[in-house]
Amino acid sequence: MTQSADATQSVAEAIGARCRGGEVLLLVGDLGAGKTCFAQGLARGLGVEGYVHSPTFVLAAEYSGRLRMRHVDLYRIDGAEETRDLGLDEFGARDLVGVVEWADRASGVYPPDYLTVELTDLGGDERTLAFEAAGERHEALLAAVQPIPARRAG
Ligand code: ADP
Ligand code: MG
Repeated sequence: MTQSADATQSVAEAIGARCRGGEVLLLVGDLGAGKTCFAQGLARGLGVEGYVHSPTFVLAAEYSGRLRMRHVDLYRIDGAEETRDLGLDEFGARDLVGVVEWADRASGVYPPDYLTVELTDLGGDERTLAFEAAGERHEALLAAVQPIPARRAG
C-alpha cells in the first residue's frame, strides 16, 4: 500500500534501479489508479531524464536512460491485432525495459516472463500495489519491494 504519488514513484524507482534489461512490466488498474505515476518512477530508476508523459494519445513512446524504456498505453486498443505497431515485438530485448499501461487489454502479445503490477485506488491518496512475477529475473525485482525476502518452504 502507498499513501502518496511520491511513494508509488519511489517503489517503481527501486524496481527500475534493479532492472538489467529485458524486463517487461505490465501495469493493470483503472483510470487514475497510478499507472502513469508508476511508469514515471520506473523511468527515474532507469536514469531517464526529463518528464515521462502518459502515452494515452500517442500509444507508445520511448525514452533513453541507463537502458531504453518503451512505454505503451493500450487504453485505446481493442484486441491484440491493434497492438501490432507499438513495438511490443521488441520487448525482452537486452537493452530495453518495456512498460505497458492497461496491459490486460491485450493478451498473447507479451514475452513469457514479466512482472504484473496491479494498482487499486482505495480512495484519497491510498493505493494498493499487488505484484505477480513470472520468471526468475522478474521475481528478483520483487526484492525491491519486499525488504525482508520471503523464505521458501522446504
Ligand atoms: P493512471 O495512469 O492509472 O490512469 P495516473 O498515474 O495518471 O493514473 O494518475 C494517478 C493520479 O492519482 C495522479 O494524479 C496522482 O497524483 C494521484 N495519486 C494520489 N495518490 C497516489 C498514490 N498513492 N499512488 C499513485 N498516484 C496517486
Ligand atoms: Mg495513465
